[in-house]
Amino acid sequence: MIVYGIKGMAAYTNHALNLNSENYEIYEFIYRALDKILDSETTVDELINLTLETGEFGVKAMELLDKANTDKYGHPEITQVNIGTRNNPAILISRHDLSDLEELLEQTKGTGVDVYTHSEMLPAHFYPYFKKYENLYGNYGNAWHKQLEEFKTFNGPIVFTTNCIVPPKDEEIKNRIFTTGSAGYTGCKHIEKDENGKKDFSEVINMAKKLKSPTEIESGKIIGGFAHNQVSILIDKVVENIKNGNIKEFVVMAGCDGRMKSREYYTEKAKNLPKDSVILTAGCAKYRYNKLELGDINGIPRILDAGQCNDSYSLVRIALKLKEIFNLKDINELPIKYDIAWYEQKAVIVLLALLYLGVKNIKLGPTLPAFLSPNIKNFLVEKFNISTI
Ligand code: SF4
Repeated sequence: MIVYGIKGMAAYTNHALNLNSENYEIYEFIYRALDKILDSETTVDELINLTLETGEFGVKAMELLDKANTDKYGHPEITQVNIGTRNNPAILISRHDLSDLEELLEQTKGTGVDVYTHSEMLPAHFYPYFKKYENLYGNYGNAWHKQLEEFKTFNGPIVFTTNCIVPPKDEEIKNRIFTTGSAGYTGCKHIEKDENGKKDFSEVINMAKKLKSPTEIESGKIIGGFAHNQVSILIDKVVENIKNGNIKEFVVMAGCDGRMKSREYYTEKAKNLPKDSVILTAGCAKYRYNKLELGDINGIPRILDAGQCNDSYSLVRIALKLKEIFNLKDINELPIKYDIAWYEQKAVIVLLALLYLGVKNIKLGPTLPAFLSPNIKNFLVEKFNISTI
């Protein structure tokens, strides 16, 4: 669990590093923790403490990335994002790295080539900085596991900036995939930084110009941008609706999506929640329900999308703010339930961060990670009352 948590933490610190933001304390912890788990003298109690300390540094890593993103691109704000297409050649940019998106938008400006975000890159639209790019048209597609069918209809080149690439079996699609940063896939062209630290996307842009524009697979708009700063602007309205009983509960349904049928749980859950409940989300798990018409409560949408999985940090900030306003001793006294969708290492560090902050009664699903041995599972149940969906 510590190793997976560290992998997630390393991914977040790497995204922050790409924006020239570092915290040496986090690196020091990573080395210390890896050293400790290789030491045969380490006791079970020490490992348990180290697991929670991993969560503590997970919070620091998410905080670092939040600061790096917001210092550079501004605080996310309520935004409607197109999910349809228009008739221009286009590039699809996927995954988490906002600095790659910035470079791509600078280079496509005025070329007649549109840029669409995919999956975890959707929250880029919420940042004020990116609103000046007219060719950042919308978001195409859904969570990572649908990428192969959606890449077929997108027709243009795709740039992967981080993890979650599904092996492309079809040569035609493979030839349209480019990777950069820490992403890579055998047979796909990788774009490296030059000696000045710049990335040259001209090959991607030239390919886009020769290919068909995207085929529309859905239409309309989705709304997001409810990270901690935007919610704090709305906090009086939120508190008023809690006090007068219009909002009875929040359900955090953040994390990663997956392709298994059992993931339909999250769609069903969203559809069947009482009308006085609000979903707080971050990460690609949201694609299970973010296009449902769940309406609003006195102008507050029933799905508040904070952003990428690392923006779970925003959800924690919102919870801590509510705890302060209602003058509560314990975060678990808030009317917030946690239903976390696990898939990979980033979801593990989000889970450990929540445990470190003392959140109890988390539901984890749809299946438990295989590395949760019966002993660890018992510990989590006893200490944090974790259960499955
Ligand atoms: S939320 Fe998790 S599964 Fe989804 S794209 Fe991000 S890292 Fe991948």
